[in-house]
Amino acid sequence: MENTFWQPEIETLPRKELEKLQVEKMRKVLARAQQSAFYSKVFADIGFKPEDFKTVDDIRRLPFTTKDNLRANYPFGLLTCSKDDIVRMHCTSGTTGNPAAVLYNRHDLDSWANLVARSMFATGARASDIFQNMSGYGLFTGGLGFQYGAEKLGCMTIPAAAGNSKRQIKLMRDFGTTCAHSVPSYLGRLHAVFLENGLDPKKDTQLKRLFIGAEPHSEETRQRIQEMFGCKAFNSFGMTEMNGPGVGFECQYQAEMHIWEDCYLLEIVDPETLEPVPEGEIGEMVITTLDRQAMPVIRYRTRDLTRIIAEPCKCGRTARRIDRIKGRSDDMFIIKGCNVFPIQVERILMKIPNVANDYLITLNSTPEGDTMLVEAELHPDFFTDDYPQLRTLQQKIARELCDEILFTPQVKLVPPGSLPKTEGKAVRVKDNRKG
Ligand code: AMP
Ligand code: ZN
Repeated sequence: MENTFWQPEIETLPRKELEKLQVEKMRKVLARAQQSAFYSKVFADIGFKPEDFKTVDDIRRLPFTTKDNLRANYPFGLLTCSKDDIVRMHCTSGTTGNPAAVLYNRHDLDSWANLVARSMFATGARASDIFQNMSGYGLFTGGLGFQYGAEKLGCMTIPAAAGNSKRQIKLMRDFGTTCAHSVPSYLGRLHAVFLENGLDPKKDTQLKRLFIGAEPHSEETRQRIQEMFGCKAFNSFGMTEMNGPGVGFECQYQAEMHIWEDCYLLEIVDPETLEPVPEGEIGEMVITTLDRQAMPVIRYRTRDLTRIIAEPCKCGRTARRIDRIKGRSDDMFIIKGCNVFPIQVERILMKIPNVANDYLITLNSTPEGDTMLVEAELHPDFFTDDYPQLRTLQQKIARELCDEILFTPQVKLVPPGSLPKTEGKAVRVKDNRKG
């Protein structure tokens, strides 16, 4: 039988044993965390000792850690070891003030690479694959994170980095790339460049798997990507504060993402009360690192909204799955009294074949109240400047959006390629109402 697991014992560990392992690891993590300036004070303030940790539920005795805590203690406040032992840092893309920086020792990098290798293996990727990483390298974790993970798996790796679509296509074709990683918002543009050059990725590449993540995207977007490239697209969840990619990943069944619970303790809490939500309900994901030495992070409030899927997965892995990320609590905007997540808009737009992959939501404040404009690029095959035809389609989209978000936004269909592009994660909302 084909070897299905990268680490069979760990990946199929019965839940009871997995919880026992989590408690053991948690005690070690807490003892280490106590060595840092930040957590030694946190623990002293509540009179907590690592040996007090007896069951997984004891996690609730500990306070949460937030991005603001990481920023305020930048750069070394959470470090548990000598600076001499650090071999790398990464940080989030803070545009103002200090970013949240993460420090890794040798063990942490090995453990991270192993989790990315485990994730890729779970999708069916193997050492014989040729892996092209179309993610930005540098401080962004999607570059080096996938690089070392794919090398650990044994793939031939192509560190193509982000952008330069013509070169991506040439590399893909010359080296016979079979799997690739990218932010989902880039893949529509890459596909357009294939077509402009008279190529069809379904016929003219050997792609079998795409790993897509680092930004929210809908199931409709995944389906589009699969159709455009004629291969499977697997959802990949990660965040810098938790290493980067390799926190959660879909297995070969593409049935939402397994969180690697031997290395991450998972909680879902109500973002208002911070109490756990009943299993299966949507709330904010809170994660504790269980295998990080240089800089453990305890009860980190990710701001990502999701739910736990309690049913075991067909694949036999015992790590629980989380549902596709619904959005970040800080991505949500309120307009005309309605709470809107950009992904709700995306889901409606991506169901409409005439609409291409890029869209932008602009919020303005006017004397008559706040306005929301949804601009969406038209698909080149459906491009028209026939105004009545465009207007009918705009009205249809506005009606469908109203059913979803409970008021009617302005909708404007724009020519293909006309909206601003970014090299990394897509910017979907421009809120001009803020200061
Ligand atoms: P970064 O630290 O820059 O990698 O950003 C991490 C954030 O990206 C997460 O907290 C999520 O909000 C988002 N993210 C990462 N992966 C996914 C995914 N597969 N689906 C939705 N959002 C994601
Ligand atoms: Zn599975």
